[in-house]
Amino acid sequence: MLKYVPELTDIVAEEIPDRVTLAVEISNCRGNCPGCHSPFLRNDIGTELTPVLVDKLLADNFGANCFLFLGEGNDSEALLNLARHIKSAHPGVETAVYSGRDKVEDSFYDAFDYVKTGPYIAALGPLDNPNTNQRLYYHGKDITSVFWRKILTENK
Ligand code: SF4
Repeated sequence: MLKYVPELTDIVAEEIPDRVTLAVEISNCRGNCPGCHSPFLRNDIGTELTPVLVDKLLADNFGANCFLFLGEGNDSEALLNLARHIKSAHPGVETAVYSGRDKVEDSFYDAFDYVKTGPYIAALGPLDNPNTNQRLYYHGKDITSVFWRKILTENK
């Protein structure tokens, strides 16, 4: 079973480049990032995220073209099945996952268009910090530098 925190569900602009992204925060995180920014997500909190609920969230947020799982939770099979459900039931919506692990299984690259890897290390910063240890892949290609180009353009 995969659980999410309903009150934190939101449309986000920064996490996935050039997409209108509906993001859900997944609880039961098994990570142990130094300087974890959301320790409450390590707890067993929230509501089970089901295919029916995913459909409702997408219907309630018409126009979203990416569904982002912020975290993996503690049930990889449930996570992958939800991503597969989105791909088959919502062909115009891409799938994304923010993992806290350095490496994920190949099945993640099949189920998700976007895969973020790497634990959060406060001293190295998130994806938009050029020193970051984290990586964002699109169909297996490392596109992390897109975040750095954005910063350089904004600072010009
Ligand atoms: S992935 Fe890391 S930063 Fe995110 S909730 Fe889990 S331990 Fe915290």
